Amino acid sequence: MSMFCYQCQEAAKGSGCTTKIGVCGVTSEVIHLQDLFVYLLKGNALFAERLNDLGQRNNKFDRFLMEGLFSTITNVNFTETFFIERIKECFILRAELKKNILDLKGNYTDISKECAIWEGKSITEIVLKAAEINGEIDAPNEDIRSLRALILYGLKGMAA
Ligand code: SF4
Repeated sequence: MSMFCYQCQEAAKGSGCTTKIGVCGVTSEVIHLQDLFVYLLKGNALFAERLNDLGQRNNKFDRFLMEGLFSTITNVNFTETFFIERIKECFILRAELKKNILDLKGNYTDISKECAIWEGKSITEIVLKAAEINGEIDAPNEDIRSLRALILYGLKGMAA
């Protein structure tokens, strides 16, 4: 499995790491799991935003989001099992956020983006999904792609 990662100044040839192991030593498997983790964090953030609209926050998720983004920065964590566990926690926190919304008589049925509804039932499903996800390069327009990457890396920096 190859990767695409261009989140740091070490990126191969100044444009991106695209082989099985990045210049920093991270494997493509970890990069894909990190991408899936960030993808699911975006989904959970939609529920957290709805909760915020109702005047409440879920502090556990807020901290999880911040620490999660930090864990995907270059050289912070290269452990596959760590990201598989964080991905599983995303599903638990998603259920918690939904309950928080319902407790406040809110509604989330319009939140239907795939990142907010997909759930892996096993490690195999998670690993297969991770192989599909290509984080911040999912927009066909290069300007939108660049802006999304810039925002994501800015948020990762803030989380650090
Ligand atoms: S984080 Fe690692 S894989 Fe990504 S661009 Fe930097 S050196 Fe390459």
